[in-house]
Amino acid sequence: MQNRDAVFLEELCPKLRMRCWRKSLHKFTDTSCIYCGKPSESIDHVLPLSRGGLSVTENCVPACLSCNGHKSDTEVFEWYRNQRFYDPRRAMALRAWIDGDLNLALRLLEWAQPNLINKEQTVQKNSQKNWKLQTV
Ligand SMILES: [Zn+2]
Repeated sequence: MQNRDAVFLEELCPKLRMRCWRKSLHKFTDTSCIYCGKPSESIDHVLPLSRGGLSVTENCVPACLSCNGHKSDTEVFEWYRNQRFYDPRRAMALRAWIDGDLNLALRLLEWAQPNLINKEQTVQKNSQKNWKLQTV
């Protein structure tokens, strides 16, 4: 497929663009849940859609199904503080993510999960290159 065709296809099919965007979020944390570090299987809206949260990068974080379902509509920091797996470094990462500072968020996540560092270096390089802030 030509590059031009891909762009055309994305415009034609917003769902495809949505899927690419979701995939790029998971890739950013090396498919680990921002809250607990388990494999991320879903995208969590930090401020729930039901409370007016938007589907933008700053409001959408990779999360495992357990955290995503458990958090539900609770205020995120309030919910997170009460979890057994609460980690202040992850809370800071979440704050940085919401503020749109994804590089800081990633550094904090690496700090919280040092075994990711080697793998992350390549992911980080790719993410920085491909990173696009998208509003859907
Ligand atoms: Zn989780």
